Amino acid sequence: MTPPVRPRRPRYAPPPLPPAAPDVEGPAAVRLEAPLACAACVVEAPEGAFVRMAPGGALCLRCAGFGGLAFLPSGDPALTRRASASAPLAVVALRFNRRRKRFERVGTLLAAAALESARAACAADAEVREARRARDAVRREVADAAYVAAFAAAVRARYPGAPAGAPETIARHACEKASGRVGRTADAKRLDPEKVDLAVVAHVRHAHTGYDALLDARVADKREARDLIRSTVRRTLDAWRAAP
Ligand SMILES: [Zn+2]
Repeated sequence: MTPPVRPRRPRYAPPPLPPAAPDVEGPAAVRLEAPLACAACVVEAPEGAFVRMAPGGALCLRCAGFGGLAFLPSGDPALTRRASASAPLAVVALRFNRRRKRFERVGTLLAAAALESARAACAADAEVREARRARDAVRREVADAAYVAAFAAAVRARYPGAPAGAPETIARHACEKASGRVGRTADAKRLDPEKVDLAVVAHVRHAHTGYDALLDARVADKREARDLIRSTVRRTLDAWRAAP
């Protein structure tokens, strides 16, 4: 009597690879979350290895024609650019984010030799690039100062009767970096008179009326407070527009 044949249990649970290939330009490979046998050579690719998703199943890098590629994680744009430029083949490395249900780029797979020489080249000119970065930062700083000065001059031209120092205060405030204030908009950068006026009105409202006090005391909401101070703002602007 022959014993009943038990079905062989698989050695591992097949990883839940998403069925569709990700929508990226050029070739892509996906990082495995669990070991998986290559659909062509049947050799098991370990967890963390990259495979290429093909219609017949996942292929190990060798069977996918990506043999000899090394993984370069994202995060060093200069190195990535350099290595990609000299490598004959750059494969986008992805992982599937289960929570967000989408692919995310984790790096690039490149010929190991190209990656090595790019690393060496980056190490060689790291100082040069650092110096260039510092120089660019200074240049931006100077350009910004020039822009603030131009903005202040535009305020002065439209409001010759403004108190001394007010145009500079208005310009500095409106043009503060990353503030999202009126001075950072494209129109303001062309010194559009309307944007200059908006910055002046905002300054007058806060510095020369009871606007902030009304809001702080919660006696009025923004719209009511603006109605209450409108005539004060208008009178102040009229005085500032007139030549001293
Ligand atoms: Zn294979």
